[in-house]
Amino acid sequence: MNLTLLIQTFDKVFIDRLSLGSSLAKRLMFLFPSESIEVVDNRPFSDSDGHLTVEEFDRSKKNLFITPFKGKFFKRCPGARPGLACCNYFVLNWGLQCDMNCSYCYLQSFINTPVLTIYSNLDKALSELQSFTQSLGNQPLRVGTGETVDSLSLDPLTLYSHDLIEFFRDKPNWTLEFKTKSDKVEQFLDCEHAGNVVVSWSINACDVIKKEEHGTASLEARLSAAEKCKNNGFPVAFHIDPMVWHENWKQGYSNLVKQITERFCPKDMPYISVGALRFQPEQRHMMRERFGMNSFVTRAEMFKSPDGKLRYHQDIRKEMFEFLTRAFKAASPDWRLFLCMETPETWLASTGSLPQKKQELETLFDPRLIKKHQKSLKPSTDA
Ligand code: SF4
Repeated sequence: MNLTLLIQTFDKVFIDRLSLGSSLAKRLMFLFPSESIEVVDNRPFSDSDGHLTVEEFDRSKKNLFITPFKGKFFKRCPGARPGLACCNYFVLNWGLQCDMNCSYCYLQSFINTPVLTIYSNLDKALSELQSFTQSLGNQPLRVGTGETVDSLSLDPLTLYSHDLIEFFRDKPNWTLEFKTKSDKVEQFLDCEHAGNVVVSWSINACDVIKKEEHGTASLEARLSAAEKCKNNGFPVAFHIDPMVWHENWKQGYSNLVKQITERFCPKDMPYISVGALRFQPEQRHMMRERFGMNSFVTRAEMFKSPDGKLRYHQDIRKEMFEFLTRAFKAASPDWRLFLCMETPETWLASTGSLPQKKQELETLFDPRLIKKHQKSLKPSTDA
């Protein structure tokens, strides 16, 4: 892990005066050169609030803003919306925006704050989470941190993984998931954990990573980071998401399955989730302006689905999901795959049944747990 390179990614660190006493602010003031730090009373670039231009969006990735979060941290996964099959997942957002740059990134339709924001009050998030212990008792709960910010790409700066791992250590029925496209794991490998911290990678065919996932770790770097986690007793998982159609997609995804199944066993990971390219129609313009037309994503023919997102035609999604499932099952029938952010119709067309009916996935999709949690939590924004 090269902390210096990560520090050099940023032009400036703005620290809200209200965050000055936080351990995050103190750490960043120690790590960054003093000329990069500015203490502010208001969010920087506030004249850009609202719809960001391409230049403002790009600038937002280069500047950090440390501030306390005033709302509720803990939210239900967007897959909980009507019309999508939900896997009983909850999100804890400790930041907003990402230092990497994927062409299809949904943050392009979502971010309206002009600076990469990290909340300095993780302790408040953990208190909120602690309050669920009373209502849920020993019920299982899955929590992920990688929705509006990558779980680990900034972790060498924040070290939030340490607080989160420690918090989950005495909650063995709960699962914490770090989801990342980085290879930044060294900083928490030595942390004592209860075996309930899943480190997961959004992973893709090599050509898709090279062409569409700018600034992310290579496939090899992600796989070897996953091996390090596995060797330190952390369960690992992969999200093959978004599958992107391109000329050699079958070759690319076959190679990916080969690499995963040669280096990992089904028992190493509770599941592999799979999703196909999707995005909000309003982000297409920004994607094309930022990445041009020489991209598998910006050139793709997409159709509006009932949830309003643009997706490949259902026949293509079905073909891709079936292809991937066959490839994994050929390696071992024990691999557990589920479709992420997909409609029940696609589950039926691609797998022959709804997720709740699949024995190997029933704990992920148990409708009784989903209903119980639905009462106390609201869906988050998107993914
Ligand atoms: S890693 Fe995730 S959050 Fe970051 S740019 Fe890529 S898709 Fe967006």
